[in-house]
Amino acid sequence: MNLKADFAIIGGGIGGVTCAETLSHLNPDTNIVLITASSLIKTVTNLVQVSERIESFDVEEKPKSYLESTLPNVQVVHAAVAILDSENHILKTSDGTSVGYKKVCICTGGRPKVIVEDNPFVLGIRDTESVQEFQKRLKNARRIIVIGNGGIATELVYEVEGCEVIWAIKDKSISSAFVDAGAAQFFLPCVNKEKTESRKPLKRHKYTEEDDVTRPKNVTGGALGPDWSVNRDMVGNQQGSHKVHIEYSVEMANIFKLDEIKTNGKKIENPSTFDQITDDWPVCVELTNGKIYGADFIVSATGVVPNSHQFSANNFEIAEDGGIKVNDKMETNVKDVFAAGDICTASWIPAPHWIQMRLWSQARQMGCYAAKSMVASLSNEDVTLDFCFELFTHMTKFFNYKVILLGKFNGQGLGEGQEILLRFTEGVEYVKAIIQDGHLQGAVLIGETDLEETFENLILNKIDLTLFKEHLLDPNIDIEDFFD
Ligand code: FAD
Repeated sequence: MNLKADFAIIGGGIGGVTCAETLSHLNPDTNIVLITASSLIKTVTNLVQVSERIESFDVEEKPKSYLESTLPNVQVVHAAVAILDSENHILKTSDGTSVGYKKVCICTGGRPKVIVEDNPFVLGIRDTESVQEFQKRLKNARRIIVIGNGGIATELVYEVEGCEVIWAIKDKSISSAFVDAGAAQFFLPCVNKEKTESRKPLKRHKYTEEDDVTRPKNVTGGALGPDWSVNRDMVGNQQGSHKVHIEYSVEMANIFKLDEIKTNGKKIENPSTFDQITDDWPVCVELTNGKIYGADFIVSATGVVPNSHQFSANNFEIAEDGGIKVNDKMETNVKDVFAAGDICTASWIPAPHWIQMRLWSQARQMGCYAAKSMVASLSNEDVTLDFCFELFTHMTKFFNYKVILLGKFNGQGLGEGQEILLRFTEGVEYVKAIIQDGHLQGAVLIGETDLEETFENLILNKIDLTLFKEHLLDPNIDIEDFFD
């Protein structure tokens, strides 16, 4: 099959689908082809504007026909792109389809950074397939070891029930990719707390991926959506709710089979609060603090690596984190090739309160802005960087608490002279404001603080707080009124 498109997009995750939707709205007369290796595409639904810059939304998986029926000028091809021939402006898929394009956007996401490749006892979590495999194995598991300290590890540790969890983290506090040690302390009591809320049935229809005959083994499906863990059964074969033991400041040193441990005369640890006193574990992990734990399997949740290896013949400029470098128009260094979402690394000089993090919200923002930029480029017009790149915002849930992160929420790159203001009520809320040179630079808001809109304005409007900072977190002062 030979197709011709004004715009081509590779990837059916949030980045690619948002790019296709925006292109279609901006330019209904053009011809758009989206090629995706996963049989289901990801769409954003239930978008809620929480404040001017903070959005919350759901991510739903839909069949490709959904996009084609809602956007008549978009054709979706279910195949993996094997070759990007940027010189001749042609894409070739592994099943022999070729797509000629004028502008292309690469939205191929990332793959899990698995601590050990090709070990049957180590599982990475990225797409629907991998989480199904996790659930299947968990059903028969008495104990698992979770390695990693980001969002995926945090959610897993909270959701898994009926199975002991050894959580091995390289930092001194939990969930450090998102929150500081103080907030981690706030969350700590939740780690082993019995869950009170019951699982609500998912109102949305769930589609399942067809057997992906077209997807080569080294190409992943789309990264999971927000309810990837919440409404899935994550239950092991034991009684009870949570039994989590945390090992701080460690990494994985070695993986052993039980008989290797026995031959070497090494000792297997058993946390005193755990029930499993057996030593018939299929796999054992030695941590860098010398402790050895047995488990049924290991979950590697140590982040993602952008899929930039796929089209390397094009000599893309690659950033240190492995992403394809893009400029402030989402253009790569290769003519007429754009990139958006997890695959790319923002290589422009960022606004003072913006940082890149590989998140749904940014995949959506980048996909949308890349589309605007592709349209402008086709008609030789210019675009200015979208205002969403002025302030980092992220809204999520950890341990069932609302979490909002604003600006340089962990003081990233601020250097000396930071002042931290804190308000903390155990089990209710945690508020951290970072002030530098009299100005609010970032904030962590956990719980129903109702401060997000005011803080967003204080950061963006660069309000001088020198005289007011003592009162900024005073619960008896309505700061919204004060700064109105
Ligand atoms: P992806 O969603 O990875 O989509 C890539 C697409 O490209 C897929 O359709 C894939 O099949 C396709 N593809 C790849 N190679 C090819 C090829 N050669 N040819 C054709 N198609 C190809 N973010 C948050 O904001 N909040 C969270 O709580 C959160 N939790 C997460 C939990 C998990 C388990 C994971 C894995 C991620 C989580 N993220 C979270 C991150 C978020 O999912 C990603 O940042 C986002 O989905 C990236 O979107 P994307 O479109 O760039 O890439």
